[in-house]
Amino acid sequence: MSEIRNNWSREEIRAIYDRPLLQLVLDAADVHRRHHKFGEVQISSLLSVKTGGCSEDCAYCPQAARYHTGVKVHALMKTEDVVAAAQNAKQGGASRFCMGAAWREVRDNRDFDRVLDMVKEVNKLDMEVCCTLGMLTPHQAERLAEAGLYAYNHNVDTSEEHYSEVITTRTYNDRLNTLANVRQAGISVCSGGIIGLGETHDDRIGMLFTLATLPAHPDSVPINVLVPVAGTPLAENKRVPFDELVRMIATARIIMPHSAVRLSAGRLELSIAEQAMCFMAGANSIFAGDKLLTTPNPEYNSDMDMFRMLGLTPKAAFADGTPQDRRKAVPHEAN
Ligand code: SF4
Repeated sequence: MSEIRNNWSREEIRAIYDRPLLQLVLDAADVHRRHHKFGEVQISSLLSVKTGGCSEDCAYCPQAARYHTGVKVHALMKTEDVVAAAQNAKQGGASRFCMGAAWREVRDNRDFDRVLDMVKEVNKLDMEVCCTLGMLTPHQAERLAEAGLYAYNHNVDTSEEHYSEVITTRTYNDRLNTLANVRQAGISVCSGGIIGLGETHDDRIGMLFTLATLPAHPDSVPINVLVPVAGTPLAENKRVPFDELVRMIATARIIMPHSAVRLSAGRLELSIAEQAMCFMAGANSIFAGDKLLTTPNPEYNSDMDMFRMLGLTPKAAFADGTPQDRRKAVPHEAN
């Protein structure tokens, strides 16, 4: 039941997704135990290195220039400030440091050169370095890999069918192409989505279907819950009920047994008991720090209290191999 499969059908995924909730959680916990150290949770820290002013129209995002959300635009940070933030995150227990820039795509310019420097410098701290910078060409993915980038985040966000309701300035295929470029460069792929964008349950199943039928499952799968931000088109969207988040996490865990399933945006609204249920259901990675790009996130200290209470342990950096190991093992893709 828990072998790695890339040939899931939507019907199979729907049958899992629709199981009675506690049965689903138990099944997911079983898969989780067989493929991961139960209770080990990766702590990632996310820093917005270039904020706001983005040309895209993602309807959930306060950083899109076209929405009036009060997000302050910041040019690309200095490398030394980013390194100082990474050192802080490491002291707070983070083993992965993710740098986000509000760009549509990477351009081959001085800003990209500076990001490559940031990657090299943070790499020296013995942390897994991750970036989320928008669309990438194969060559740019290569350059990031050569600089020592461990992981790249690029979410599919929602189902292919619902995508154009949320974003019109790029296509689903653009997303998948960048994921292929990242994978081919031997960089760990981080890709998931957001629930609460006005999608149906079929759309959620569709998103999981896309992720679980990629040539290789994403190494990590963030499941975000929309945090509605005033000024964005989705500002009035209703909050996703907690049980629906658990259902997404558990289904992702069962169909992508090896992936890290990441409890991401929206965690601030969850009680410790609710987060505990997410961990039971197979979540084994969290974002920590006082900001998750531009929305609040629980402080490190309260997270550490939660880890103590639940008996969780932070996962060490490079437990799944170094960037060099990954590059040696790049899979050959038929497409
Ligand atoms: S999600 Fe990313 S690409 Fe979309 S508007 Fe926000 S910063 Fe731009």
